[in-house]
Amino acid sequence: MTATPPPPPASTPVPPKYRVLVGIEVHLQLRTRSKMFCRCPVRFGSPPNTLTCPVCLGMPGALPVPNRDAMLMALALATAMQCELAELTKFDRKNYFYPDLPKGYQISQLDRPLGSGGVIEIITEDGVRPIRLQRLHIEEDTGKSLHEDAGNVSRVDLNRAGTPLVEVVSEPDITSAAEARAYLTALRALVRYLDISDGNMQEGNLRCEPNINLHIEGPGGTTIKTPIVEVKNVNSVRNVGRAVTLEVERQLAEYAALGPAVADGHRSTRGYDDTHDRTFLMRRKEDAHDYRYFPEPDIPPITIGSAWLREAAERVPELPHARRARFVEEYGLSDYDADQVCRERPTADFFEQAVKAGAGAKPAANWMDELNRHANERGAPLDQLGVGPERFAALVKMVEAGKIAHKAAAREVLPRMMETGEEPEQIVDELGLGQIDDSALLWSAAQDAIDQNPKAAADFRAGKEQALGALMGLVMRETGGKANPKVVRRVLVEILTESDPEN
Ligand SMILES: [Zn+2]
Repeated sequence: MTATPPPPPASTPVPPKYRVLVGIEVHLQLRTRSKMFCRCPVRFGSPPNTLTCPVCLGMPGALPVPNRDAMLMALALATAMQCELAELTKFDRKNYFYPDLPKGYQISQLDRPLGSGGVIEIITEDGVRPIRLQRLHIEEDTGKSLHEDAGNVSRVDLNRAGTPLVEVVSEPDITSAAEARAYLTALRALVRYLDISDGNMQEGNLRCEPNINLHIEGPGGTTIKTPIVEVKNVNSVRNVGRAVTLEVERQLAEYAALGPAVADGHRSTRGYDDTHDRTFLMRRKEDAHDYRYFPEPDIPPITIGSAWLREAAERVPELPHARRARFVEEYGLSDYDADQVCRERPTADFFEQAVKAGAGAKPAANWMDELNRHANERGAPLDQLGVGPERFAALVKMVEAGKIAHKAAAREVLPRMMETGEEPEQIVDELGLGQIDDSALLWSAAQDAIDQNPKAAADFRAGKEQALGALMGLVMRETGGKANPKVVRRVLVEILTESDPEN
C-alpha cells in the first residue's frame, strides 16, 4: 500500500494589482423662480399637479421658452469650473417613454453642451488634486411617480416636470471612495458659493450616479477591464463612498471567480440599498440606449454673446479654493483649518468678519465647528443664531485674554448669548464665570495644594514634571475651575522652585 499523496498546499491567492476608475454624473436642480421652459414656479412640497401648465404638461402646440436665469446660473457654474463655454449652444430632444415624462421626450443638450472640459479641485489627504470634467449641459427634470399610498394604483405628480437641471459629467479620474466623497463635497461647496442650488442630496436637488470599474493587472502584463457599473439611488456624500467601496469589492470578487473572462460581461446599472448597505442589480445594458436625439425644433440655437458671459462672470464670487489659499496666506491658517472654514460660504464669511472684528484667526477657526453645531441643532443658518460676528469676536477675545475658560465660554456663555442677545462681558459677570486672576487668592490656593500633597511636591522637585498635574488639579478644584490653568502652573512652579528645601 502506498500512502496517498498529500493534497497540494492550498495556494494563497495573491491579491491582484488594480486601479479604480470612477466617473461621476451629477444632476443639479437650479434654484430658479420658474421652470426651465415655462413660467410655472419651482417650489417643493406643493399639492400634486398644482404647479403645471400646458408647456410642462406637454400639451400639443405649447411652446417652450428657455429660462434666462437658468442659462446664466449654468454659465456661472461652467465659468467657475473653467469649462470651455459654447459660443453657440442648442437644445435636443431625448426621446423615451416613462409615465413621469408627459411629453414623451426630455429637452436636453446633445452635441452642443453649454460647457466642455473643465476641472474641479478636490482636497484629499495627499493634497489638492484636479478632477477633469467632460461636460456641463442643461436639461429639464421629470415629474415624480408616486407608488406609496394607493394599493395597486400609481399616481404621477408633475410639479417637478420642467425644473431646470444642470448635468455635470466628470472624467473617470476619481480613484477611491475618499476621492468620490471629496468630489461631491467640492461640487456642492461650489454650487452653494455660487448660490445657484441648495445642493442638498437628501432632498434630491443634487443627485449623483457614480460609474465604477477596475483596471486589473492580468497575466502577462495584460490589463483586464471590468465592465462599468453605474450606481443609482445614492443620496448622501457618505453613500457615494460606500457605493464605490462595495463595487470595488464586488468587482474584485467577480474577477477572482471568473478570471480574465470578467471583461466579457455587460455594462450594468445597480442600485444602492442604504438599509442593507449593498448594491443590487437593476438592469444589464445589452445595448446602448437609443434615444433618437434630434434638435429641438421649437427652440432656435442660442448664441452666447459677450454680454451674457460678462453677466455670468459677475455671478462668480471668490471660490472655495481661492479663498482657502488666501486664508492660509493672509490669516496664517493651516491648510486643514482653511479647508474646514471655507467649505461653506456662510462659515467662511462669518469667520472673516469675526477676524476683522478682532478675533484671532486660529481660535476663531476652531470655534466655527461649535457655531455650526448650534446652527445645525437649531436648523438655522449661521447668520440667524443671534450672535453676530462682532459679539462672537468679543467672546473669542475674552478667551484669548484668559478672562474666561474656553469650556465655560462654549458651554455657558455662547448658548446664553444666542438666547438673550446679551454681550459676553455681561453674561460672564452675571454668571460669575470670570477666571480668577486675583493672584493673592491663587498663591494661597497653590500653597494649600502643596501642603496637602507633599509627595507630589517632592516628586516635582525630583524632576518628575508630571507630578505637577496632581497639584494643578487640587488648585482647580479649590477655585471651582475658574482659575487660568497657565497662571496656576506658573504660580506652582514658582513656589516649588523657590521654596525648594535643597536650595
Ligand atoms: Zn409649466
